[in-house]
Amino acid sequence: MTDVFGDLVGQDEAVVTLRRAAASAAALLRAGEAAPAGDTGGAGPTDAGMTHAWIFTGPPGSGRSVAARAFAAALQCVHGTGCGHCPGCHTTLAGTHADVRLVVPDGLSIGVGEMRALVLRAASTPSGGRWQVVIIEDADRLTEAAGNALLKAVEEPPPRTVFLLCAPSTHPDDVSVTIRSRCRVVPLRQPPAGAVAEVLVRRDGIAPDVAQWAAAAAQGHVGRARRLARDPEARQRRDAVLAVPRRLTGVGAAFDAASALIEAAEAEAAASVAEADEAERSALQTALGAGGTGRGAAGAMRGAAGQLKELEKRQKSRATRAQRDALDRALVDLAGFYRDALTMALRAPVAPVHTDTATLAGAGAQKWDAEGSLRRLEAVLECRTAIGANVKPRIAVEAMMLSLWRG
Ligand SMILES: [Zn+2]
Repeated sequence: MTDVFGDLVGQDEAVVTLRRAAASAAALLRAGEAAPAGDTGGAGPTDAGMTHAWIFTGPPGSGRSVAARAFAAALQCVHGTGCGHCPGCHTTLAGTHADVRLVVPDGLSIGVGEMRALVLRAASTPSGGRWQVVIIEDADRLTEAAGNALLKAVEEPPPRTVFLLCAPSTHPDDVSVTIRSRCRVVPLRQPPAGAVAEVLVRRDGIAPDVAQWAAAAAQGHVGRARRLARDPEARQRRDAVLAVPRRLTGVGAAFDAASALIEAAEAEAAASVAEADEAERSALQTALGAGGTGRGAAGAMRGAAGQLKELEKRQKSRATRAQRDALDRALVDLAGFYRDALTMALRAPVAPVHTDTATLAGAGAQKWDAEGSLRRLEAVLECRTAIGANVKPRIAVEAMMLSLWRG
């Protein structure tokens, strides 16, 4: 029987820390004490026990939000250990616990309004008598004002409130230095392919050979590995991306490949948000009701138009983010291909990322040598960086394709 940390793949060290903190939190509750607030020093809290604010860092797919949710469950566990089957664990993992709030930004940023409301609610006494837990996924997407609102709460935490932040790293671009100094950091690593494959077999019932292929191809991203193993459309999209290197036969072909990659990302993103967009629209229309004629109807109409506009803005931001995410997945796959070519050119004793295109990568290695392979890998990574820095995706991808063709 696995406990709440069972889904945290290949993160033994982090699990030890979190178990210890959960036990210490349970002891504090028994003693009727509050959790000690974080250090005010620059190094951040170092004690192994419980504290008010945590940051889970690690590469995408390493399980930052899985770790935060598991820890939240352990804090709400009626046995205080994250047993995995009591009501506290169960409702937390199912997302229905009254004292666990989850912020999952679906746009490009988390605004100050949302954060203020959250901080306010988080200050209330936990209804279940344990902890008020706030999980902020993608804390790197906090706007500056939202970060300041959060900082206030983290600096003077209500006695029973715990903040769990998830971010790629503790770099100041991701989390402000002042917030970071109030938090204990739980670094997660990229889980090894073997551990990812094992969990796909055990939990998702995927055949071992498929699990191994998907775990390697996903480069340590657990969710991506599961999708590749289960979703034929995800596999097709990956195949199309990995066909790019052999399609680059000239300038025209490079531009065509850029268009195809961008359009595929747009189509994938549109499909992923369409359902949510439609559901939100019709919910809002129902809430606003059909146009009335009485007094005040004109004012209500103006209010409705404003709300509709607000919703459209939010949906557009979400669509942009979905496009970037889809494009980034494609770029990570492509980087894996050139990394394979590089390791083969260097005759490095490492397993290829993409076993199914290893022959093609081997041919590339012969043609380009290590240097040419490295230049191409760098071109893909530069494209990711450029898009992260808000360069228009089409421009960045075109520049990359030209570099990949020219070498
Ligand atoms: Zn439990």
